[in-house]
Amino acid sequence: MKEISCKLLVIGAGPGGYVCAIRAGQLGIDTVIVEAKKPGGTCLTVGCIPSKAFIHAAEEFDKVRHFANGGSAIGISVEAPRLDLGKTVEWKDGIVGRLTGGVSALLNKARVKIVKGEAKFRDGKTIEVETETGTQIIRAENIVIATGSEPVEIPALPFGGTVISSTEALALREVPAKLVVVGGGYIGLELGIAFSKMGSAVTVVEATKQILPLYDADLVRPVAKRLKELGIRVLTNASAKSLSDGGLVIQTAEGGSETLPADKVLVTVGRKPRMEGWGFDELDLDRAGRFLRIDDRCRTSMRGIYAIGDVTGEPMLAHRAMAQGEMVAEIVAGHKRSWDKRCIPAVCFTDPEIVSAGLLPDEARGQGLEIKIGQFPFSANGRAMTTENEDGFVRVVARADNHLVLGIQGVGQGVSELSSAFALAIEMGARLEDIAGTIHAHPTRSEGFQEAALKAMGHALHI
Ligand code: FAD
Ligand code: NAD
Repeated sequence: MKEISCKLLVIGAGPGGYVCAIRAGQLGIDTVIVEAKKPGGTCLTVGCIPSKAFIHAAEEFDKVRHFANGGSAIGISVEAPRLDLGKTVEWKDGIVGRLTGGVSALLNKARVKIVKGEAKFRDGKTIEVETETGTQIIRAENIVIATGSEPVEIPALPFGGTVISSTEALALREVPAKLVVVGGGYIGLELGIAFSKMGSAVTVVEATKQILPLYDADLVRPVAKRLKELGIRVLTNASAKSLSDGGLVIQTAEGGSETLPADKVLVTVGRKPRMEGWGFDELDLDRAGRFLRIDDRCRTSMRGIYAIGDVTGEPMLAHRAMAQGEMVAEIVAGHKRSWDKRCIPAVCFTDPEIVSAGLLPDEARGQGLEIKIGQFPFSANGRAMTTENEDGFVRVVARADNHLVLGIQGVGQGVSELSSAFALAIEMGARLEDIAGTIHAHPTRSEGFQEAALKAMGHALHI
């Protein structure tokens, strides 16, 4: 049995864990990272990146199909396109390979020792890892749990065969003719739209009264409109019951039942923290609901043990995990750091995309704040017109008394790239006047941001 010691041990090399290890290495901390699968975690191997590769491929295919069907006003015509999903998956795997290889290279550059295998706590300072060459014992002054999350299974619809999670969906080599998506949240809609564009007949079954229940109805409306255009059937207030020979049996909003024919049933009803396999039961760690409880320094209830990323709660987003990872590395290095972020922007890569940073109007009102809202439609934006897609808007939510910007949302084609401007404005404590007084390049969709701020002050220029 081999034994090593280090100052910092990180369990899990997803966005949280690998960023923590790289930053620790940069700071000269003697660091070991243990990963059971591939560096990059869910995000790089079966999450953010593969799904966006699929979404891009589907958009390209859909665009050409649109031209082939004579649906373009621009004047482009082409022959009917074909999609080889096997090749798409190989292309996607190539991107994943480049990124996971890149993460390993960055860890090596930062002099982080990578141990491949499943880590399990022996006690609060000791981990054992089953590696290909035997058991490795690692003793560490500080340990970071970054074990991530996994898909939630519906008991009546266990994964396997026809019933798949996003991981299997992103490895399909043929487009399913009939796809039923259970759960109309982030993953269900991102992938449901992508498969629809690739040729699947898609039905979305959502338990609540609205798809994307995290967002308000105004933000979701342009997406719902696009789903209709794509021919995606959306059943709200409906829930999946069982699989039968004829397909997926659901309970409808009216309380009856319906069988939806399905070649594949994609279950996307959320993700849960990965709490099994690493020894949680042997430790004295507090939970916050399903997640590990942490404080504003990502410290758990046990001294010297930190937790970051999806295992610590919502929002389960890669950039939150990375920011926590970087912070914990600096804390271990002795820096004075604590979680003081004003917002964690979120992007839903649907068609059109949705961005939200800070508070939604109802959240601000819920905090008892008096607010001003400015909303500017892309139908009044020159750049949007030149891209044949004028749906959506930018909305700014600010305090009525001092114009401090509390939240910024957008829905529209390509608005994901505005997310950093939105987050920066909130992080810097911008007032409406700061956004309105910043020159926004013309012609860009970002002018909608400036106009929304002007509108909140009562004098938008282009509407
Ligand atoms: P993970 O990325 O889950 O990594 C945890 C790692 O720990 C894994 O590699 C796992 O193998 C390893 N591990 C677990 N237990 C052990 C053990 N005992 N020993 C050794 N290793 C272990 N987020 C976004 O911000 N933007 C997006 O566009 C986005 N798209 C997504 C699309 C899909 C389809 C999915 C599923 C998720 C998406 N997410 C997105 C969420 C994002 O992937 C997660 O928030 C992020 O990966 C969390 O990072 P993490 O480091 O906490 O955990
Ligand atoms: P989600 O929480 O976004 O959506 C789950 C949906 O399923 C909800 O609308 C919920 O009401 C519905 N639901 C729950 N139980 C149901 C049932 N029995 N029948 C029908 N509907 C049901 O979860 P997800 O889409 O699985 O994604 C998991 C997490 O991954 C997200 O919360 C997010 O943190 C992360 N993610 C982020 C991105 C991104 O940032 N673009 C993309 C994908 C995933």
